[in-house]
Formats: sequence, structure tokens, C-alpha cells
Amino acid sequence: MSDNIDVSLKHVSKFYKDTVAVSDISLDVRSGEFISILGPSGCGKTTTLRMIGGFILPDEGNIMIAGQDASQLPPSSRNTNMVFQDYALFPHMTVAQNVAFGLKIKGIKKNEIQARVQSALDLVGLSKYGNRKPGQLSGGQRQRVALARALVLRPVVLLLDEPLGALDAKIRKQMQAELKHLQVSLGQTFVYVTHDQEEAMTMSDRVAIMRGGKLEQVGSPEEVYDHPASLFVAGFLGECVTIRGVCHDTKGTFTCNLGKIEGEFSVKAFTGDAALCIRPEYIHIKDSGEPVFHGDYHFSGIVTEKVFKGLNTKVTVKCGEEFLFAELSGKSSLKVGDNVDVSFMKEHALLLPYEDMETISVHEEVGF
Ligand code: ATP
Repeated sequence: MSDNIDVSLKHVSKFYKDTVAVSDISLDVRSGEFISILGPSGCGKTTTLRMIGGFILPDEGNIMIAGQDASQLPPSSRNTNMVFQDYALFPHMTVAQNVAFGLKIKGIKKNEIQARVQSALDLVGLSKYGNRKPGQLSGGQRQRVALARALVLRPVVLLLDEPLGALDAKIRKQMQAELKHLQVSLGQTFVYVTHDQEEAMTMSDRVAIMRGGKLEQVGSPEEVYDHPASLFVAGFLGECVTIRGVCHDTKGTFTCNLGKIEGEFSVKAFTGDAALCIRPEYIHIKDSGEPVFHGDYHFSGIVTEKVFKGLNTKVTVKCGEEFLFAELSGKSSLKVGDNVDVSFMKEHALLLPYEDMETISVHEEVGF
């Protein structure tokens, strides 16, 4: 991946009457980068992608593609191509004709078309399927045709809108691996829209998380998971234990109904309603008879729930009025009603401004 910028959005907005679909987005996509736009339904992902592709024109701001101002150019004049969730293949054409279509429109010579179609079909593992019609293919194979059709035009940037959304879980996982492999081997710039946080985290170099038309945070999967900019991002990217309280000063002095928790939490300076956020894999739970784990914070509690999930067991503990939970690896001998010691390290706790997770409804969007 180079430092060249293939796509640059500068203060881009799109309005529909009284709806702000996208609000003042600025984002640079590097050459060869796999960047995912992630966020709940209606947050503006598709609108952003379609503005890059030229299917929607922005009301404000600029879009540069490969160094050229493309803000008002039609899709055919941009160096982009799009792969849609529903494949959008021509049903009456063969696979090879579908892949060749864009090249024909561009007036490429017949011999070159044949060679490029063949190599695009080789690339997606469909070299023997050129004479089939889309209706004679599986969902995964159809999506590969759509991919070949987009790649054959050699766009600078490939735009993918929930391309695996119509596939079942097993094929989807397989296609994720194939897509990533293809993207890396070609060094192709991908802008990928999904509402599936696991898909975005496992495939992307960076993720851009949107909320209500705005960009909430952009960073590598590790950065946004370990250092979420808000409780919304933390909750969207996976489970987190939140302890609600008040932050009294900019040093991160926090009180909650578990008592005073003082720490040098790495937070942006703020005071007021706050939540201490800890990933469940960093919460330790021990039977109160066992030697104590040397965490920075300890609370006594009673196990209220235990759910075996195969690789992990989720154990929930009531400490005072708070419910804390941990993902313990493998099986656990703890039982509901056990008295336990719950602990975590200061370095694993993030202090963030409090937000009501119900009203931001991240859980329903990511299918918790
Ligand atoms: P999803 O994951 O459900 O596809 P999204 O994040 O892609 O959602 P967009 O499709 O970009 O969201 O829509 C952003 C907002 O703009 C939504 O509130 C949507 O209702 C609104 N919107 C999108 N297109 C139009 C349109 N043509 N007219 C009016 N409102 C629109």
C-alpha cells in the first residue's frame, strides 16, 4: 500500500428535503487500501459510496479520484467501478458476455476483450463457466461474475456495496477470504460498505464508522476496537461492559455506585456523565475462595447468569447495582449464585462520555 491518495472526500454532504443523508464527511483513501465504511442502517454508508461512484452527486464538498476533481462527473467518466449486493447481472447474457459488456461499450477490440474476459474469469475461479447464464450459477458464483465484470475494466477504485449480503453464512466467510486475497494480490483499492462489524474488522486495513450521516471514527481495526472514540463505536464493534457514573475532573476521577475509581484513564478531557467501558475479555472472575487476581480494581458480587457459547462462557455477575460480565475461555466451573471476585486492570478501562445505548440502538443493528 502506497501513500498515494486514490479517493479524497472534502467536506462532502448530501441532503434530501429534511433528511441529512451525509454530513460534512472528509476522508482520504490510500492507493491499495481496503477501507470499509461501517455503521447502522440509515447512517449514510450507501449514499457516501454512491457519491464516490458518481451515482449521486454531492450537494456540498469535493470528491477527488486519482488526483482529478470528479465531484460532478458521471459514473462512466470516473476511474471507479461498483459491485452491488444483488449482483445486477444481465440474465439473458452468458457469464462471458456479462463480463465483456463494459469493454464493448468502451470500444475495446474483440481480441483484447476475449483475453481480458478470460483472465478476469481465471482471477475469480470461473474460467470454465463462461458459457453459462447467471441463472445457472450459485449465489457465490454470481457474485464472482459481478466482481470479474467490475475488475475487467481495471478501475483505480473498486466500490463494493454489501457485496456478500445475499450469501449464507458459510459461503460468506469463504468469499470474505477470497475477496481479501484478491484485493491484496492485485493491490486494488477497495471501498467496501457493510453493516457487519466482524466482516469489516477481519478484512479491512482501516474502518470508517458512520453515525447519523457523520464520520464518527476512522482507524485500523485494532485502533477503533481498543481506543473507540465514543461509547457508540465501542458498542458497535463488539460487546463492552459499561459502568455508568460521573467523571469529576479532567484527570479521570470517576465515581459510580461501585465506589470511587480513580485512574489516569486515557480520555479526552471532559467532566459529567460518564461510562467506564471494559471489553469482557479483560474482565476476570474468580471464585471468592481462589487466590485473587492482581487487577487494579476489585469488586465482590454474585453470579447471576452463565451461558456456554462453545469457545467461551459468558458469566454475568451482579456487583452492587451493576451487572458486569466476562467472556471466560472454554468451560467454567462457576455456578449461578456463587460469590465471586471481579477484577480488571486500569489499562483496559476506557472512560468515555455517557450515552444511552438504547437510544442509539447499536445492538439491533449488529444483530446482538
Ligand atoms: P443501509 O445499511 O440500510 O443500506 P445506509 O447506511 O446505506 O443504510 P443510506 O442508504 O446512505 O444509509 O441512507 C442515509 C439516509 O438518507 C437514510 O435516512 C435514508 O432514508 C436517506 N435517503 C437515502 N436515499 C434517499 C432518497 N433518495 N430520498 C430521501 N432520503 C434518502
